[in-house]
Amino acid sequence: MKILLTGGAGFIGSHVADLYIENGHEVVIVDDLSTGHASNINPQATFYQVDIREAGLQEIFEEERPDVINHHAAQMDVRRSIDEPIFDADVNILGSINLLENAHKYSVQRFIYISTGGAVYGEPEYLPCDEAHPIKPICQYGASKHTVEHYLYMYHENYGLNYTVLRYPNVYGPRQDPQGEAGVVAIFTGQMLEGKQVLINGDGEQERDFVHVADCARANLLALTTDSIGIFNVGSEKGTTVNQIFTTLRKITGYPKEPLFGPPIIGETQKIYLDAARADAVLGWKAEIELMEGLESTVDYIDRQKAPL
Ligand code: NAD
Repeated sequence: MKILLTGGAGFIGSHVADLYIENGHEVVIVDDLSTGHASNINPQATFYQVDIREAGLQEIFEEERPDVINHHAAQMDVRRSIDEPIFDADVNILGSINLLENAHKYSVQRFIYISTGGAVYGEPEYLPCDEAHPIKPICQYGASKHTVEHYLYMYHENYGLNYTVLRYPNVYGPRQDPQGEAGVVAIFTGQMLEGKQVLINGDGEQERDFVHVADCARANLLALTTDSIGIFNVGSEKGTTVNQIFTTLRKITGYPKEPLFGPPIIGETQKIYLDAARADAVLGWKAEIELMEGLESTVDYIDRQKAPL
């Protein structure tokens, strides 16, 4: 299959590109390199450095005629969405509509859209959170990511576009940016390996669902083969506190210091983990990589990146 993958230079999208190529698919990456890196791009992929909001996107569809769109490109920083809500909506909503319009015009078979299980449900009424849970985002990022799910439904109803939505939890693993604003595992590991002071936002008792990026990439492979339309939580079904992540990473890295605690971040959910029974039943997907194993290999990766050549 020929897959147009947006965000393929980013943390998660680059793993999806690698897995698709390993499985014999042709991959066309569209990425503006705003947070992604050229070094993440699989050399076997065709690459266009283009913003998904640009009208010129149509020329890529005209040239490439993809069978499937896999849409990972996004503004994915909760804090930035609060500080710059218009920018967040511009990239996440208008950029996605630009892709959808082209998908419709060029008769794309399936649209795989990456949403967020961590931010669309808000503060959950019950746990684990399944896909039927009310949608009550408490940050602009959650609202913008969810809005596109409505557009997908419309394009399916009106034009027959097949779609799969994967709602990711907190994803971690190789290539996540330790200097970034999101991704507690990469940020803590980077700080610990450099002997810097680790700062925990809030009391650290906030619970998250952590899934390794290789598991997420596998969900994208399975999404290519399903006939089913709809929304799937991609989660481990387990909650882990930020303090537990800190303690485990401290053990792995031998970090000697205690953390500092700062004020909690507005717009961040206190406690969430996702029910992934639907992904298991329909896609045959379950998280497989245990947190300890995943954290060890992530620390090892970040450490090797830092090592002098
Ligand atoms: P990332 O920032 O590493 O990847 C995003 C990629 O999109 C980058 O390569 C960036 O350059 C590109 N991009 C951004 N704006 C663009 C634009 N206007 N035009 C073209 N390219 C653009 O982030 P990530 O963690 O890999 O996130 C990938 C997807 O997964 C996003 O849709 C995000 O919302 C979703 N997600 C991530 C997590 C997580 O824990 N990291 C959790 C839930 C959902």
